[in-house]
Amino acid sequence: MTNANALPQTQLVVKWYPPRRDVRLESVPVPRVLHPDDAIVKIDLAGLCGSDLHAYRGLEDISQPHICGHEFVGHVVALGESFTPFSSPSRSSLYGRLCVGDKVISPFTTSCGDCHFCRLGFTARCVSSLLFGSPALPGAQAQYVRVPDAGGTLLLVEPSSPLMAIPDQNLLLLADILPTGLFVAMQALAHPKLSPVLTGRPWPASESGFLNVEASTNAAPLTQEDRTLTVGLVGLGPVGLCAAVALIDRLDILSVPVRIVAVDTNPIRRNKAQSIISTFSNSTLEEFHIVDPDEARVLVREWGGGGCHAVLEVVGTPLALTLSHGLLAPYGILSSCGVHQAPALPFTGREMYNSNMTLEFGRCNVRSLSVSATGLLVRQQGALSKVVERIVPLTNAVEAYERFESGEWGKVVFNVWA
Ligand SMILES: [Zn+2]
Ligand SMILES: [Zn+2]
Repeated sequence: MTNANALPQTQLVVKWYPPRRDVRLESVPVPRVLHPDDAIVKIDLAGLCGSDLHAYRGLEDISQPHICGHEFVGHVVALGESFTPFSSPSRSSLYGRLCVGDKVISPFTTSCGDCHFCRLGFTARCVSSLLFGSPALPGAQAQYVRVPDAGGTLLLVEPSSPLMAIPDQNLLLLADILPTGLFVAMQALAHPKLSPVLTGRPWPASESGFLNVEASTNAAPLTQEDRTLTVGLVGLGPVGLCAAVALIDRLDILSVPVRIVAVDTNPIRRNKAQSIISTFSNSTLEEFHIVDPDEARVLVREWGGGGCHAVLEVVGTPLALTLSHGLLAPYGILSSCGVHQAPALPFTGREMYNSNMTLEFGRCNVRSLSVSATGLLVRQQGALSKVVERIVPLTNAVEAYERFESGEWGKVVFNVWA
């Protein structure tokens, strides 16, 4: 099923060159189907993301020029031969029903849908996973993109879906930053260590009870203060904003009283966060402070309790980890979705042992979280519609990278046809 012959020969793309801060607009060939599981997507909008800046700054161990970008919304224009109504029922159902013309959103990494990790839901670590916008897979700051393992990877926007009523720049959040924000919050909230605060039953009783263990303690019952969750959020870039919304949304559903301290060194980002958080009036949101790092340390000390039950780290630098560690209480969970690089962790095994600290790291399973992230987007459209700050033509990419890197611009989306 393909109409690849109808595709143009060339397209406009943003390409990265080593060693750093060198992105160029170029005309390159339009991709073609190379494998039966491929789809070619004509892109409508493409995102510029904080993790694009790691390569931009020369922080990753890569030297090959490549097409940038890993967030896109578009329409299918060509499909490989695996896409047929006679596709095996043991494969993703998309192989049997995805058609040319369908509207799709793509997670920022591909996932086959067929391997052990995909079956477990850990799609970020699919054995054949590829990252868009890397030397291994040309990216989406382009007019067309080839999607390998497309039946396992793509999210189909069904004509009957509530997503059809949401503007494309907000749908684009589903490619990476909204599920990643949800993921970093979930890694903390779903951890058994938070169960005493969330349920009122002391450790080791767990909320799910799947280990079938009960607490055995002579301690006094938990107080209301014990059951007020305290959370730090380090980093108020676009993913940090999504993490804040995901956290508030989820704790409202759970009816858990919470105090949150959100930290960023950049006053522009703090103001943006304030404009989003002020849209919430949840009764369980006892306090939400948006502060710089020094103010955060003072505030958390004043709260007592030895620090926050959980800190979400959404930056990806040793400095952010040091701050996060400093805000954390004994038995705390440091949940990180920052794209960390080669430097060693800024705390020792002894420090971790002496505080019973938990570290949660890594890439979000965007494909597996798509239904939850879609529900979050539909529920919190008002707040989330403020995350994307501007839509600019792809031809403005060089300026957009510069201003996004400096923190002057927030989340940028490219209209690849303007
Ligand atoms: Zn991204
Ligand atoms: Zn897989």
